[in-house]
Amino acid sequence: MKLKSLEISGFKSFANKTKIDFMPGITGVVGPNGSGKSNIIEAVRWVLGEQSAKGLRGDRMTDVIFGGTSQRAPLNRAEVVITFDNSDHYLNSAYSEIAISRTLYRNGDSKYLLNGTTVRLKDIQELFMDSGLGRESFSIISQGRVESIFSAKAEDRRVIIEEVAGVYKYKQSKNRAEKE
Ligand code: ATP
Ligand code: MG
Repeated sequence: MKLKSLEISGFKSFANKTKIDFMPGITGVVGPNGSGKSNIIEAVRWVLGEQSAKGLRGDRMTDVIFGGTSQRAPLNRAEVVITFDNSDHYLNSAYSEIAISRTLYRNGDSKYLLNGTTVRLKDIQELFMDSGLGRESFSIISQGRVESIFSAKAEDRRVIIEEVAGVYKYKQSKNRAEKE
């Protein structure tokens, strides 16, 4: 599975429709402070179903919609489309290309599309479950998270490492089994 492209419009600082095509290899995003680098990553998390406004540095979810500047009026709609090359069928789907879009209007209406068909958030979450890209996975490490991992207590840090290694879920079911 590969990330192919990301299309952002009306999301945070991206008022104009902006499309990023990802080339093979590693992509680095550089730019001055406040230029929108973190907003790109937040667009990825958001389109994959992020439900926490705080996790996106806002108070309410509608705060992700472009709020206007001195030069430009606020917008009414945020939309992000993410496209994956799934020709290896790493994601459990018959499609070899998967495009997910999430749209949110200022009145709170929202929708998700999977290759053009309306789906529920649950369908998106299920598609990414155990893929390493799910909401609670560690494939996206936000600013500040590295520091919090280093300053965590040894036991908490162990949980993080066990989760990354994929043994945490087995440990939990072992604990459950022992209690029964
Ligand atoms: P740094 O290098 O400091 O980490 P960055 O490149 O990651 O910076 P971001 O945090 O992605 O920058 O972008 C912050 C900018 O996005 C700020 O200028 C902020 O005003 C703008 N911004 C955030 N939300 C909105 C919104 N809803 N509408 C308009 N602009 C927004
Ligand atoms: Mg940043």
